[in-house]
Amino acid sequence: MSAPTYDLGKLHGGLRLPGHKSESTAQAIQDVPIPSQLVLPITQHVGDAAQPVVAIGERVLKGQLLAAAEGSLSAPVHASSSGTVLAIEPWPVGRRNGEPAPCVVIECDGKDEAMPAPEARPDYKNLSPEDLLAEILQGGIVGLGGAVFPTAQKLMQARTCEIDHLLLNGVECESYISCDDMLMRERAVEIISGAKILMHALQINVCFIAVESDKPEAIRQIAEALAQTNDARIVIKQVPTIYPSGGEDQLVQLVTNREVPSGGLPSDVGCLVQNVGTAAAIHDWIVCGQPLISRVTTVTGDGVNKPMNVRARIGTTIEHIIKFTGGYSDRARQLIIGGPMTGNSVTTDRVPLVKATNCILVSSETPSTGPELPCIRCGECAVVCPVQLLPQQLFWYACADDEVKLREFGLTDCIECGCCDVVCPSHIPLTADFRVAKGRIRELADEKARAARARLRFEARNDRLRRERVERETQLANQKASAKRAGPAAIAEILKRRKQDKGDEE
Ligand code: SF4
Ligand code: SF4
Repeated sequence: MSAPTYDLGKLHGGLRLPGHKSESTAQAIQDVPIPSQLVLPITQHVGDAAQPVVAIGERVLKGQLLAAAEGSLSAPVHASSSGTVLAIEPWPVGRRNGEPAPCVVIECDGKDEAMPAPEARPDYKNLSPEDLLAEILQGGIVGLGGAVFPTAQKLMQARTCEIDHLLLNGVECESYISCDDMLMRERAVEIISGAKILMHALQINVCFIAVESDKPEAIRQIAEALAQTNDARIVIKQVPTIYPSGGEDQLVQLVTNREVPSGGLPSDVGCLVQNVGTAAAIHDWIVCGQPLISRVTTVTGDGVNKPMNVRARIGTTIEHIIKFTGGYSDRARQLIIGGPMTGNSVTTDRVPLVKATNCILVSSETPSTGPELPCIRCGECAVVCPVQLLPQQLFWYACADDEVKLREFGLTDCIECGCCDVVCPSHIPLTADFRVAKGRIRELADEKARAARARLRFEARNDRLRRERVERETQLANQKASAKRAGPAAIAEILKRRKQDKGDEE
């Protein structure tokens, strides 16, 4: 079967951003040496924290499980080199703007000794989709495009829907970031192998690999690898370079012309989107037995001496990585984990590289200090919003803390792309305000869910007590009737027991 052909869909709004990619793509991906210490956060995914399964002082090997997935949308964390567990303690992390979060700290021994080689990996084609998903779950694989949604759970959710298209996302539309471009240039074969594994897990026959048309080398490498594999089910789809065409819903629209409904998911229109890096990580785990313990990241900006893409172990500090790439330039002013539009500015380079870190940007500019002015209702923010929201209205309701109106005007559909910030002449930090408002809405929803659960527990307890009382009363009535037949001593005993029961209830 071959993939269908679609005309390109249309993206609403968006921005043409300066690329700044050539600086970091001039040389091949470089491997960062093993650091003396690795810092591995136990939460590197969207859901509940993984639970540590190692003890302080324990020797661990590369690939060994450090923290097991537990609870909802959790993912395991593995050691990225051999050494000794020094501590399990809070450490500054980039996702929380440098605030501390629980981490497993390993003192590396430099031997890089790995877990015993797994027995020959079974051919995934001989595994049922369910068994394959259970395998993927063990590899600690999460969405490497930045969303860090555990891949196995995303696939499991997709299996409950009628999915017919897999979209591999090689669209890297944010300025400066080039790790996926380099990965496609250097590991196209593994990406396509990962695509085939995903298609088997989903039992589907259509896969589009979406790449921006200004990445000719990546397109060439993917096309060559596809020619070798001769699999007509997988095709490249070139898309225009507009930010944020790499957003999941935007990509579905562009590639398949299907519109994801408000509040919905790509799976509602039969699509599953995975980053190209995630596909390569699935290949590494399912074919080679290597869990997700390293990733490619872009080190760039005019604040570093040598911009480049590197492959570093998860848990390596940003300080170590930047030192390896040639250090800070004397223009360095601001460190951003992620890209200029969606990244987090941090004040320390002691934060570790995590599964989500696609870019380390060191800029000569300090965080925006332009004075925030009142909204002049120019409407520019609505013109560029790719979700067709009205950011100026949302801003108004966010200031008024009006949860009902925020929901009504679609705040939960905001993808936090930052386009509205860029064009706002009044320098209003709209995206930051929306992020805070979304957090408040989530908290309120959690509170309501907690209150509903508490009410259910209370009602269940009352029902149980009522049931027990009725049972006791029936039992006593029966005993009284038989005691009447037996005589006054038995009646006195029953009355005494009833008095005791009443006392217990009170
Ligand atoms: S941040 Fe939200 S509101 Fe602003 S342009 Fe992006 S999607 Fe629209
Ligand atoms: S771009 Fe800024 S000033 Fe213009 S309408 Fe939007 S929020 Fe108001």
